[in-house]
Amino acid sequence: MENGVFGMVLKQLDTTAEIIGLDENMHRMLRQPERELTVSVPIQMDDGRIEVFTGHRVQYNSARGPCKGGIRYHPDVSLDEVKALAAWMTWKCAVVNIPYGGAKGGVQCDPLTMSKSEIMRMTRRYTFGILPIIGPRHDIPAPDVNTSSETMGWIMDTVSMLEAATTLDIVTGKSIELGGSLGRREATGRGVMITTMELLRRLGKNPEDVTVAVQGFGNVGSVAADLIRKEGCRIVAASDASGGYFKGDGLDIDGMIQYTETSKNHLLAGYEGDGVEVISNEELLTLDVDLLVPAALENQINEKNGDNIRAKMIVEGANGPTTPEADNILHDKGVIVAPDILANSGGVVVSYFEWVQGIQSFFWDLDEINQNLKNIMVSAFDTVWELSTKEKVDMRTAAMMIAIKKVAVAMEQRGIFP
Ligand code: NAD
Repeated sequence: MENGVFGMVLKQLDTTAEIIGLDENMHRMLRQPERELTVSVPIQMDDGRIEVFTGHRVQYNSARGPCKGGIRYHPDVSLDEVKALAAWMTWKCAVVNIPYGGAKGGVQCDPLTMSKSEIMRMTRRYTFGILPIIGPRHDIPAPDVNTSSETMGWIMDTVSMLEAATTLDIVTGKSIELGGSLGRREATGRGVMITTMELLRRLGKNPEDVTVAVQGFGNVGSVAADLIRKEGCRIVAASDASGGYFKGDGLDIDGMIQYTETSKNHLLAGYEGDGVEVISNEELLTLDVDLLVPAALENQINEKNGDNIRAKMIVEGANGPTTPEADNILHDKGVIVAPDILANSGGVVVSYFEWVQGIQSFFWDLDEINQNLKNIMVSAFDTVWELSTKEKVDMRTAAMMIAIKKVAVAMEQRGIFP
């Protein structure tokens, strides 16, 4: 049995396989990624030293289409983590029914201690390393933790230079000037908001009566907090790697976003607001709120703190924030969890729109993008909710049942090569 994050993926897969009576051969094939690549990333640091980083790219499954998934820069990146994230991308694309398989990449590094030019050189060398397996019809990277449209621009440029042809469709999450899509930056947070509103509607709750804590204040967390607040909910707590902030009658999310635009490493460290208390991340997770939105990293709600969670609803902005052990605890306590593969799929949906627009060289307006995103996410939510009610299973199990069946059908119809 695998430990680590990929062990979580296998547990979720095994549970689902048993419930849906998945064919044993199919089950064995789905327990392994199609392809794993580990590359050495040597770069010259600003002080002249050579630092050698390790990068990975994993393509988990391409039965339903080209692989798709972000690139993460973080000290905790490992092959195990990248495999897990690539598997979740596969299930996610199937749940929302977009024609992609799943992939993920990452470099083990601490970008918060590196200069911009070091990060750019590392990005270019990593891109060179994974170039043999990526491509618009094979595997299309995107931003994830500590990467952004700027990183995607460097990847696009590196590939374009090596291929002597401008290759816009090698990545999504690009800036608008480089063929990015309107609405992509906000898409994951917007999807978290859409999922939250659907959940509240199904539970007959008025947004104005709902208090919210958001863990993580990066791309996903800050946009989700902003949009959920605009729907009428009260964001009482938010945190990032530097710590947490609490205000019972609601934080000034606009002010906090503005603060991180110019703060060191875009962190909330040093943020001060009227009546704002500083709390720890652990305190944030166990606050007495209606809704908790984990939007940082995996493994945050686990067997150690699961019992102390007081939120009644969890909408997962991050990938894998809840371990299977915590899932069982939450289920027994009656906490409803809108799972990552559904709730944070907005990013990959608009990445898909970006890829389609790039191929057509015809770009849509923001209203069209947001409306199409909403249609896809509401329809996926309804399908998951209905199956979960019909089969009396939690939403994660229902979403996994839908995803695994879709991937299995595609694999079955293609047959085994050769
Ligand atoms: P980001 O780098 O923009 O933000 C990450 C945030 O988490 C930062 O605010 C960071 O300070 C905070 N953080 C890190 N460690 C923390 C800790 N121990 N406690 C509290 N906060 C901590 O990354 P992002 O793109 O917002 O990604 C966040 C999560 O959402 C990840 O799990 C990612 O895989 C997932 N996700 C991202 C996208 C996307 O489009 N960017 C799409 C789907 C899922």
